[in-house]
Amino acid sequence: MNKRTFLKLSSATVATSAISRLSSWATPDKLTNWAGNLEYSTETLYAAKSQQQIQDFVKTHPRFKVLGSRHCFNNIADSKDAFLSLKPLDEIVSLDAQARTVTVDAGITYGQLAPLLDAKGFALHNLASLPHISVAGACTTATHGSGEKNGNLATAVSALEIIAASGEIVKLSRKEDPNFFQGAVVGLGALGVITKITLDIQPAYQMRQYVYENLSFAAMKDHFDAIQASAYSVSLFTDWQNHNFSEVWLKSRTEKSQAFDAKPEFFGAKLATKNLHPIAALSAENCTQQMGVLGPWYERLPHFRMGFTPSAGKELQSEYFVPRHHAVEAILAVERLRDQITPHLLITEIRAIAADDLWMSPCYQRPSVAIHFTWKQDWPAVSKVLPAIERELGPFQPRPHWGKLFTVKPAALKAAYERLPDFVQLANRLDPKGKFRNEFLNTNIFGA
Ligand SMILES: Cc1cc2nc3c(=O)[nH]c(=O)nc-3n(C[C@H](O)[C@H](O)[C@H](O)COP(=O)(O)OP(=O)(O)OC[C@H]3O[C@@H](n4cnc5c(N)ncnc54)[C@H](O)[C@@H]3O)c2cc1C
Repeated sequence: MNKRTFLKLSSATVATSAISRLSSWATPDKLTNWAGNLEYSTETLYAAKSQQQIQDFVKTHPRFKVLGSRHCFNNIADSKDAFLSLKPLDEIVSLDAQARTVTVDAGITYGQLAPLLDAKGFALHNLASLPHISVAGACTTATHGSGEKNGNLATAVSALEIIAASGEIVKLSRKEDPNFFQGAVVGLGALGVITKITLDIQPAYQMRQYVYENLSFAAMKDHFDAIQASAYSVSLFTDWQNHNFSEVWLKSRTEKSQAFDAKPEFFGAKLATKNLHPIAALSAENCTQQMGVLGPWYERLPHFRMGFTPSAGKELQSEYFVPRHHAVEAILAVERLRDQITPHLLITEIRAIAADDLWMSPCYQRPSVAIHFTWKQDWPAVSKVLPAIERELGPFQPRPHWGKLFTVKPAALKAAYERLPDFVQLANRLDPKGKFRNEFLNTNIFGA
């Protein structure tokens, strides 16, 4: 704690509650990301409790980054100067049942929002594998769940309130400002401080989750489209050995047209007889209920339960999005590297995501399949495997996940994102002096 500076932004009570919660982010006296693989470059961490405090902070600080829930694996959130957390701003601002939208403070997590929304009879269209992440941090990096008809989480955003570098409040909506809005939603933390987000909602729904074991790569190859179409959300897990997906997770809505009919076999895979963790050796205690047990949407869409450590904990992650029509070829291309990959891998997950129109989304105008790697926490080894994977995926123009580890060169990112120049222009308008920039953005976006 020696170096960290917490700033009291308003009343003592506010500052005290913010300080006690934020100090739990240190391990034990360094400020790190959730996985602990990244020690941030400053320990100066401020917390804001109101819009006015944020505006004052923006006006008086020449350079800083907003920290969300710190779940990115790379340095996209890092700062050498200072951090601002909106963690104390975590409420539902308003819910419009008729328009089917909810407006939330940017510090809220999906885990906080979902049960409140459900209690009011509403739901979101999808969630990531974990509910622990902030809505703002997730949307700004185009975080996604699975389901070929489901856009990433950012596609639910219908309006944004951002405090730009001048301190001015900028309001953008899908309806009023379709062009800039589509540039701003996946904003990579480069445009300003997001203070409020409006999300599309729908009537609450129930789901069942089923897991099947041992789907062969041959079955995947022959029936990829049928497998992806079989349920609302589909995840395939493999360690790349034995031409086999060890687990297939199917999340099914109960509405008649969407329900999955769980037979004992699924393209040769066998229905599991107990709850499983995607990493089969780990206890399923931290996983959401499976075995077809009926439950609310927010307790089935994520793989991991709120209140428990998601995934493995000590890990690294990488993920590449390829066009859906190249999915099978791309998966088989990665499989060729299995003997380089598996020794460093905890598990791979393959998910489908619908196309969208958000400029910096990896699914921009591309129905996509994402090939995800949960790695052991050994960056020297992983950093050697990533270029090989990126080379194999090269012919499919892979777009890396903005919040995970990659070694794709800025020029290749530029080639993969046709709206990147427009995004740079938008960022220059909202932040002409680079207040919200950092090494990640300077290298990958502004230096591209
Ligand atoms: C165990 C685990 C599982 C995961 N599963 C998935 C998954 O299923 N799907 C997936 O796509 N990703 C997944 N991720 C990745 C993760 O969800 C994303 O990287 C997401 O961005 C994390 O949000 P955060 O709030 O923690 O972001 P942070 O790391 O805190 O910040 C990310 C970016 O958001 C910016 N930011 C945050 N809040 C604001 C704000 N209010 N205003 C402006 N900028 C802001 C930061 O400046 C930074 O640029 C997973 C990560 C972990 C650790």
